[in-house]
Amino acid sequence: MRGHEAGTGGRRRRLAGVTISLRETDLGRTRRARRIGRVLADTHPDAHCELDHSNPLELAAATILSAQCTDKRVNEVTPKVFARYPQAADYAGADRAELEELIRSTGFYRNKADSLIRLGQGLVERHDGQVPGKLTDLVSLPGIGRKTANVILGNAFGVPGITVDTHFNRLVRRWGLTTETDPVKIEHAIGALYPKRDWTMLSHRIIFHGRRVCQARKPACGACTLAKLCPSYGTGPTEPAVAARLLKGPRARDLAAAAGVDPELVPDQDGSVEAR
Ligand code: SF4
Repeated sequence: MRGHEAGTGGRRRRLAGVTISLRETDLGRTRRARRIGRVLADTHPDAHCELDHSNPLELAAATILSAQCTDKRVNEVTPKVFARYPQAADYAGADRAELEELIRSTGFYRNKADSLIRLGQGLVERHDGQVPGKLTDLVSLPGIGRKTANVILGNAFGVPGITVDTHFNRLVRRWGLTTETDPVKIEHAIGALYPKRDWTMLSHRIIFHGRRVCQARKPACGACTLAKLCPSYGTGPTEPAVAARLLKGPRARDLAAAAGVDPELVPDQDGSVEAR
């Protein structure tokens, strides 16, 4: 019943936000979604795929390794992996123990080694060792789910794709752009709100916002550029001095400034704790 208690400014703001999200027309939601997209583009000009790669096979392998692991850790491991297994056939014929040792620090290394070997085998058997550039072909390969397929399509083939990871899932629902919880339904619902050409970069920007500003437990509402467009404003602290301390990443001070908050309120940080 907390949402029905009109009282402090924050609660009224939150109550007003909920009212807006319930009464918003489809056109209104689309317009707000597009505004959110424009603000995100200004807020995160550095948004990009953070998994290092130079070809589709490397990105496929890196994405498999990124499950339950930070991109930073994956990027520490992949130079050796890519050098040892440059072709799909190399994964297909890999010595399991050797591969497991190389990727051990990314966690779940037995499952991941299995996925990499089976992916290599699938590519050799069905696609002449090449990573295909179609969603239907990609998702039929071992170890490649829809999320991974969209990452590969968007970033290695230039085919627009929406990547519904944990951040994307949380943020679009906080913004009231969809109430769906199934990743495929979220993908379709959000895809309908934005031009297809924007899907890949939109995904990167939403994920950046989720990592750096609107985190799961403590969103930095009081230092967020989307405060005026977000019905969930108030989920996290709205006091700028408190919220600024929650901003993460190498551009935390720029993020504060973009939200109209004194950058000096942001403490020093090394930018290394951006959990996936
Ligand atoms: S940080 Fe707060 S205001 Fe910003 S998007 Fe997240 S819930 Fe909304």
